[in-house]
Amino acid sequence: MKPETETERLPITTIVTRTSCPICVALREFQNSWAKHLLPRECRQFCNTHAWVVANSAPAESAATIFLRAIRDHEWKPGRPSPEHCDFCKRMNEEKEARLNEFVKGLQDEKLRKWLHDYGMVCSRHGREVVAKLPENLRDSMQELMARSSNEMAETLRNFLQRGKKGNHSGGGILGHAAELLVALRGIEI
Ligand SMILES: [Zn+2]
Ligand SMILES: [Zn+2]
Repeated sequence: MKPETETERLPITTIVTRTSCPICVALREFQNSWAKHLLPRECRQFCNTHAWVVANSAPAESAATIFLRAIRDHEWKPGRPSPEHCDFCKRMNEEKEARLNEFVKGLQDEKLRKWLHDYGMVCSRHGREVVAKLPENLRDSMQELMARSSNEMAETLRNFLQRGKKGNHSGGGILGHAAELLVALRGIEI
């Protein structure tokens, strides 16, 4: 039987949308799926974010075994959120590399590139990594997309502040979108 993590994995080019970074979405799906099937041997060292992912999403027995092992080990200490110090971050980083490469390959397609350029969204963190992997002649398009996303967000935030001065505090969802643009989706450390 194929592990579920495989069957849930959609091609990156099918998850581009106007409102979310496709790398973020792919990584969030992967993180959820991996946590759901996590085995104790797969996670010995973990950072703050991933301790909470384990606590909230891993099978209860796996989570208890992972935490018990850490508590019993007097040498154990919390890991920094990096592939060297957290097993979960390490696995996420491998997945991110695979997804970035897949995305960069997809961007060879002019139609996709143009659509992304005109309508798509990519967070700053992953956008920069995509640019670094792209051949030089395809970088402008991605950089323009990032500039457009930032300008649109700046405009939205300015309007939000203006409305706030008039006592209208609705539309706070845009603050989450601003955070996503700046640092990737919530709970994605890599
Ligand atoms: Zn992203
Ligand atoms: Zn981690």
